Amino acid sequence: MKIAIIGAGPAGGFSAYLLAKAGMDVSIYEEHATIGEPVACTGVITGDVMARQLQLPKELILNKISKARIIAPNKEFIEVRLKNDIIIDRAGLDRHIAAMAEENGAKIFTNHRFENLEYCNSGKNERERIIVAAKNKTNNEMKKVETDFLIGADGPVSSVAKASGLFGNRKFYSGIQVTIPVKNDNAIDFYPSENGIAWVVPENEGVARVGIAANKEANAHFRRFLTAVAGSDYEKKIIGWQAGPIPIYDPRLKSATKDGKILLVGDAATMVKAPTLGGINQSLIGAQCAADSLINGSNYEKLWKKKMGMDLYISLLMRKAMEKFSNTDYNSLVGTFRKEKNRKLLEKYDRDEPRKFALKLLLNEPGILLLAKKAWF
Ligand SMILES: Cc1cc2nc3c(=O)[nH]c(=O)nc-3n(C[C@H](O)[C@H](O)[C@H](O)COP(=O)(O)OP(=O)(O)OC[C@H]3O[C@@H](n4cnc5c(N)ncnc54)[C@H](O)[C@@H]3O)c2cc1C
Repeated sequence: MKIAIIGAGPAGGFSAYLLAKAGMDVSIYEEHATIGEPVACTGVITGDVMARQLQLPKELILNKISKARIIAPNKEFIEVRLKNDIIIDRAGLDRHIAAMAEENGAKIFTNHRFENLEYCNSGKNERERIIVAAKNKTNNEMKKVETDFLIGADGPVSSVAKASGLFGNRKFYSGIQVTIPVKNDNAIDFYPSENGIAWVVPENEGVARVGIAANKEANAHFRRFLTAVAGSDYEKKIIGWQAGPIPIYDPRLKSATKDGKILLVGDAATMVKAPTLGGINQSLIGAQCAADSLINGSNYEKLWKKKMGMDLYISLLMRKAMEKFSNTDYNSLVGTFRKEKNRKLLEKYDRDEPRKFALKLLLNEPGILLLAKKAWF
């Protein structure tokens, strides 16, 4: 069975690895010359998922973080212990996964940008195949390849989703981040506010990844936050930029065509946790489900929704509520979590599984529903 995959990020690379390992004929088309670049990611990840699925080389783990603070607009904060959060070399991660795919027989075509697709009839067994058009950016030649299945793992503004009618009316946050010298105590600082979310994530004791994600006025929020963290001359200190759109999970979108021949995975399918806007682990879970469905003939959408649909949905509800919070609401929320029994919940439950945590929180704090209600209605 022939499978074309567009995009060599975590979703595309991991799908390719699993499918090639199962003996499929897999080709990845990646538009950039170097896999993993340019980077548009902070690289914070809960390490156990990675450790289970990938044999992550030590040199890709840039830092291990054992505590985080959530800081309210009034500067009150909650401090929580983290069990196994790591900061990864994100470009290195993409290359590592792509190498795993290649070792198992996947072919990788860099500098090839997916342009379009059409259905054709192979004539051999009346089975419809897909013709994928990818432009070779080194010589501008259009390559046309026939495939049985197509995986769109081409990120938030997925051209595969657009070409196959699966793009829908998705919405985005703008993520803007820089790497910059900032003295720190090796804790991740999150700053939720009515402007969006901002963060300081230490790479080492003197350098951090500092950024914001917002659905409006992102540049202004970014400039204010950077000035507060690194001073008004922050522009002179910037070591690197990493920015990009972050899709908001949309449960109404379809992630596969009706015939099951075109699948979307990762950001292309909006598989992003809405409150923290993290999507690496979700891309890997999506890739696992895409591979399982093609290997075993099972329904892709049912598979991934069973694994993470509820968590993504609860994350979305939390985000929707938070979008309407005022700074005063954020102060109350952080105040609620400063109570020891609630703070412990944050420590105990994995950020990727909010359904477990949300229920316990409601039992502890039924009053929190009033805050949510105020935001939703
Ligand atoms: C500022 C920022 C910070 C973030 N921080 C975190 C974080 O700390 N933790 C976390 O878990 N998530 C984070 N995310 C989200 C995370 O980066 C994504 O969820 C993750 O990269 C999704 O992986 P993916 O493989 O689906 O897509 P991508 O990583 O976007 O990969 C898509 C690939 O497809 C290629 N491509 C695109 N179009 C085409 C085309 N037409 N033809 C060929 N190739 C194409 C791209 O070049 C790219 O290599 C962050 C995002 C942003 C913007």
